[in-house]
Amino acid sequence: MYRSHTCGALSINNLNQKVTLSGWIQKIRDKGFVSWIDLRDRYGVTQLVFDTERTPESLLKTVQNLGREYVIQISGTVIERESKNPNIPTGEIEVLVANLTVLNTAKTPPFTIEDKTDGGEDLRMKYRYLDIRRNPVKQNLIFRSQVAIAVRNYLSGQGFIEVETPYLIKSTPEGARDFVVPSRMNEGQFYALPQSPQTFKQLLMVAGMDKYFQIVRCFRDEDLRADRQPEFTQIDCEMAFVTQEDILETFEGLTKHILHHTKGITVEKFPRITYADAIKKYGNDKPDIRFGMAFGELNALAQGKGFQVFDNQELIVGIAAPGLADYTRKEIDALIDWVKRPQVGAGGLVWVRYNHDGTFKSSVDKFFNEETLLAWAQALQAQPGDLLLVMAGSADKTRSQLSALRMELANRLGLRKADTFAPLWVTDFPLLEWDEESKRYHAMHHPFTSPKPDDMHLLDTDPGKVRANAYDLVLNGNEIGGGSIRIHDKKTQQKMFSLLGFSDAQAKAQFGFLMDAFEYGAPPHGGIAFGFDRLVAILGGQETIRDFIAFPKNNAGRDVMIDAPSTIAQEQLEELHINLTKSED
Ligand code: ASP
Repeated sequence: MYRSHTCGALSINNLNQKVTLSGWIQKIRDKGFVSWIDLRDRYGVTQLVFDTERTPESLLKTVQNLGREYVIQISGTVIERESKNPNIPTGEIEVLVANLTVLNTAKTPPFTIEDKTDGGEDLRMKYRYLDIRRNPVKQNLIFRSQVAIAVRNYLSGQGFIEVETPYLIKSTPEGARDFVVPSRMNEGQFYALPQSPQTFKQLLMVAGMDKYFQIVRCFRDEDLRADRQPEFTQIDCEMAFVTQEDILETFEGLTKHILHHTKGITVEKFPRITYADAIKKYGNDKPDIRFGMAFGELNALAQGKGFQVFDNQELIVGIAAPGLADYTRKEIDALIDWVKRPQVGAGGLVWVRYNHDGTFKSSVDKFFNEETLLAWAQALQAQPGDLLLVMAGSADKTRSQLSALRMELANRLGLRKADTFAPLWVTDFPLLEWDEESKRYHAMHHPFTSPKPDDMHLLDTDPGKVRANAYDLVLNGNEIGGGSIRIHDKKTQQKMFSLLGFSDAQAKAQFGFLMDAFEYGAPPHGGIAFGFDRLVAILGGQETIRDFIAFPKNNAGRDVMIDAPSTIAQEQLEELHINLTKSED
């Protein structure tokens, strides 16, 4: 038997018991006549004690030769500690060791195995198995597992069936770039790894499975923006015979269940906002609503007063930054510089101090009297003591610039509290978005999303105006889930493909299997997928998903621990019919 207890289990209730423990040496403190070892495993740390009075000579010698991270097994007696540590569950006891076996030695780890380590990111990734020994990373992985269990419990309680869909599928041109896998048995042909199980889950609805889910790995070969992983996990779901309302209800329930069971938090009904309103109010389709600072449009109050900068602009829009009327000129100038940085790209910022005594001081006093500034303040729902910040320009650009400023101010003001959870639904997304580069429409969600019945008539005349039965679940400024009611008839699906620039032949070659299936009794259906890594990170109070993935890739898409990707042997290449030498022509 390797152990009678774990290193987190013993307390004052075990006094005088003979116990056996196994684990890693966290720390050795040698005071000459007495030494202590902190023994660690997944469950905690237990202090071991050795002294010249009670410990056999030979054992003391062994202790001399131990090092950090050695794996040892000990047996001994639980005794009361002299100086207790109230911060850990085992802090009142220690084990007086009678026997010690070294199960394995260890090299000195390249960074300290402590909550706050001296190891940089690269080193930690290279030795991820040591990194996972540290509490913060270990706790994140345990938390991830708890969230997954909460998801399974809720969904299976609601009658969902977990079905695995294939990883070796067919490459399609829509969406992101595919990872491809060469086929040895089919020369010159390739599988693709799924970007999501979208078509399979729809086929499961045609197959009558009715309620499907899967916690599933997905693969997208995109240039890695900060905190994206080429492989990531989704909670993927689909239901038949449902309206959008049924889906929102079901997955609001799931989100509440997760918040309740993993964080002990109860959230009331989730607010809903249309895409158009989200853009108008927050300049953003994933608004963080943990704080206010909603946009106010000032065109009517700010144009035609002789201030040329405003007069010919499409949109004048502002926010009220709470309590910042006391900002000095220098601080305001720094804000102006911040919005002028190329990352934000604004031309400038008009500011108005709404002083505590109700008076105003602004950068545009020459053009606007107190009465007008008061009207601005009211439009921005400002209170005395706030600083009004106003931008002008073309609507889309200006909104997204002001949105960046709103988030920046919220960060500075500490309004984005990690322990506050403010979910909301964003609905009525546009079906299509125009792409200037390729001069054609792209599906905003994906080509299987259905248009709103009320907007069907616009498909031929004004496709950009058509709204979709598509929705996102947003949590604290992050899109954590998105889905739609699907097209389930062949004609509409064909029409959609043609709007997206597919010829009939291309549509048939790529998605013929789906359109065929629609001819065999496809029920109305819809679904959603949650980004599991991001969800877990946000619930864990952090925004980096890498810390919640056991073996993540770095920013260059590499696993630096196993050193992947890597070259393969010539024989392997030949078997796969791949010739890497570049042809001359
Ligand atoms: N398959 C979609 C995605 O990965 C989600 C969905 O529509 O259910 O974003």
